[in-house]
Amino acid sequence: MVIDVTNEHITKNYLCSRCWGALVEKHVAGKWAVVCATDESHEGYVTQGFVTARRTMNRLEAAEVGSQYADILHLPRHNLKAASQALYGDEYKETRDVYQGIDGS
Ligand SMILES: [Zn+2]
Repeated sequence: MVIDVTNEHITKNYLCSRCWGALVEKHVAGKWAVVCATDESHEGYVTQGFVTARRTMNRLEAAEVGSQYADILHLPRHNLKAASQALYGDEYKETRDVYQGIDGS
């Protein structure tokens, strides 16, 4: 399999390795380069598939940690969401489907 690695290919298929944000093509010092759209000092990139898989794993780990907190602290089940949101912030919003399977809410 041959992949034509162009800046366009990179911006469409990869994300920033540091913040997982979008990559953009920018004219820097006389040539076109691919940089992080959030912060140009971020270096490197990863495939979108890697980020999707990692986020799925993070959601599962967040659900497991939330479940363990509830058991250890003897929290009512409905506090799992609050605990996870406090721990993971915005990541919580993506965990709703996972929680529905665990606490039945
Ligand atoms: Zn970045």
